[in-house]
Amino acid sequence: MLTTLRTIVLEFSQNAELESALLRMVSQVKSAMNTDCCSVYLADYQNQHFILTASDGLARQSFGQTTIGFAEGLVGLVGQREEPINIADAKNHPHYVHAPEVEEEELTAFLGAPIIHQRKVLGILTIQQKQARAFNEDEEAFLVTISAQLATAIANAEARGLLGQKQDNGKWLKQLKGIAGAPGIALGQLIAIQPKADLESISLEKIEANSNRAIQIELFKNAVIKTRQDFEQMSIKLSDIIQDDSLNIFEFYQQLLEPSNLGHEITEKIQQGWTTQSALKLVVDHYLVQFQALEDPYLRERVSDIRDLGNRLLFNLQQQSQLHTQFPEQFILVAEDVTAAMLAEYQHKGLQGIISLRGSNNSHAAILARALDLPAIMGVESIPLGQLNNQVAIVDGYSGELFVAPNEALKKEYQLLIQEEKSLTEKVREVIHLPAITQDGRSIELLLNAGLSTGFEHSKQSGAIGIGLYRTEIPFMSRSCFPTEQEQTHLYEEVLAVFPKQAVTMRTLDVGGDKSLPYFPITEDNPFLGWRGIRITLDHPEIFLVQVRAMIRASFHTKNLEIMLPMISSVVEVDDAIRLINQAYFELSSEIFLEKGQVLPRPKIGIMLEVPSVIFQLKELAQRVDFFSVGSNDLTQYLLAVDRNNPRVANLYDAYHPAVLRALNTIAQDSAKYLVPLSLCGELASEPAGALLLLAMGYDKLSMNPHNIAKIKWVIRHIDYQRSKVILSHALSLSTAKQIHSYLNEQLEQLGLGGFVRAGM
Ligand code: PEP
Ligand code: MG
Repeated sequence: MLTTLRTIVLEFSQNAELESALLRMVSQVKSAMNTDCCSVYLADYQNQHFILTASDGLARQSFGQTTIGFAEGLVGLVGQREEPINIADAKNHPHYVHAPEVEEEELTAFLGAPIIHQRKVLGILTIQQKQARAFNEDEEAFLVTISAQLATAIANAEARGLLGQKQDNGKWLKQLKGIAGAPGIALGQLIAIQPKADLESISLEKIEANSNRAIQIELFKNAVIKTRQDFEQMSIKLSDIIQDDSLNIFEFYQQLLEPSNLGHEITEKIQQGWTTQSALKLVVDHYLVQFQALEDPYLRERVSDIRDLGNRLLFNLQQQSQLHTQFPEQFILVAEDVTAAMLAEYQHKGLQGIISLRGSNNSHAAILARALDLPAIMGVESIPLGQLNNQVAIVDGYSGELFVAPNEALKKEYQLLIQEEKSLTEKVREVIHLPAITQDGRSIELLLNAGLSTGFEHSKQSGAIGIGLYRTEIPFMSRSCFPTEQEQTHLYEEVLAVFPKQAVTMRTLDVGGDKSLPYFPITEDNPFLGWRGIRITLDHPEIFLVQVRAMIRASFHTKNLEIMLPMISSVVEVDDAIRLINQAYFELSSEIFLEKGQVLPRPKIGIMLEVPSVIFQLKELAQRVDFFSVGSNDLTQYLLAVDRNNPRVANLYDAYHPAVLRALNTIAQDSAKYLVPLSLCGELASEPAGALLLLAMGYDKLSMNPHNIAKIKWVIRHIDYQRSKVILSHALSLSTAKQIHSYLNEQLEQLGLGGFVRAGM
């Protein structure tokens, strides 16, 4: 049964036309379940009804015609109850509605299961039978399983615009919804950057009618030649080391690459109109399902070899097409998974906005986009990259909406918004060089979150008075091996020199989670709960010591270094890290030539409070370190157990959750009690409502990206500290994040700061 199920779902997702996919699926389900009829009804929310879209058993002329209201009939009942309904004699059920045009007179038994994606009913899958009988539990379980699996495929098909509407300009307007990743609006040409070779991430696409299939076949043949050469070289290299028959695997690969095997089938698919990458995916997926179903364990294990071979072919195909990508002067980058390295590469080459099909609003790619002041949408529903490539689009980084091929009216509307945004930015810039002080005289320090390898010029002009968080991992990412002590020293000298008279807080390497180094790959099931931040660097003192030595060395003249440790979850980690920092300090003191009376500056050491366990150990931690800085991005993810990188749970990630606000308040109170200087460097600090609450809690240092300093300064200068305490006290008494958001929005409106609410909070 499992193989049948897999085959049905695979074929469904491989079909580019939704209607024909649904028709094929209902026939397969009907025959697998041995019934007399299987039908699917899709929800139309605008008209509040289900439409009979495909059936094997009901009258064909009713497809696309027959509708059933959301509150009508047995289909409506399944939708309303959001659970399967199994009825032996449907015609005598009080909800039964007779629709003569579907010709179901002979059908008596009914089983319907809702198709639900992310809590939304997308449609209903039904089976019917002439004989009056209740379907058994296994049948019910099968229908529920297939509905659940189809839900994602149907949602994706809808997202791909297969149900889209034609616009008056004759083009297809696709409105896709993602997660607002970085505020701002961009209007321009989309350029798709291919993901790393992974067949799983390829979405199926047909070649445009007028494009040349012979060229696609040529591309494929070249990729095969290149792949064969790769295998030959690998086999030669390995034959020196391996003498047994493990090298036979290369024989297996070469056989699969023969024109009579994969090659032939892929060429056939291209002839049928699929793009080369889609053809490759279709054929490889088909092999995978067949091999997975084999009895022989040896042959079954070949599944991973076939997947590897497919990915290698894909890599060679992508290498060829990437060579032909033309970059316009200004463009919006689209990728499966936008990485920090991509942003670093394109930031000075006309990059205007970002669309990442994966990730969420607190992924590091989104944080970097905000730092670069680029509008971004994350976690956009599955859409083939190729369908987006070269299209003109509007990126609404406030709402997370992406409009592909917009008409003139929509473009005008957004151009107006771009203008409004510009005037708001100009308005807040008036206060850029004034102090951040409330109307009743409470002052607060606004610091910078920095870390991109370039662009310090902007930092100096931002209005900040120091660096509160320098993320050292970013320069580590755009390289091919760990930087040497000397390279790091030069880099850190540059950073420390940006604010020579103020403290610059440098965080030690914080990789793992969603930040990986190309030359230090980490593969884990739960990366955010795994080997991350200080856990890695304590396990690799050779990496940690080199970095700390470079930092201390770099601070020799400016003497403004503070070292911050990420992902601390216990006192032991702090003790171990301090021991290593001391070791680096003493080693350097004896190595560096010091003139008489000169001493090597000793940096202050602080920790990030971002793992909930530390909230209950503040007293012990206070005895060991010089300062605390709250990482509200991670603190929110760990307190709420919501992966900050997963778009499926993005709606649950909320720094205004009562638990998060109460934790932040406790931290502020305890830090004051233990006399430890406190700051906050998560994204919450750069939101007007967040800054207001943090000010009231007693945070007197907020660190944020350079583009938000003026805005937050404006907010601080337009509020009253005493009033903010009253607002905080009420916010802390509320029980849901929703109540807190609407209360804070209302308060900001009353304070005359409503413009910031609408501007995408
Ligand atoms: C945080 O977790 O809030 C933080 C500032 O660090 P990062 O976002 O780099 O994990
Ligand atoms: Mg963090």
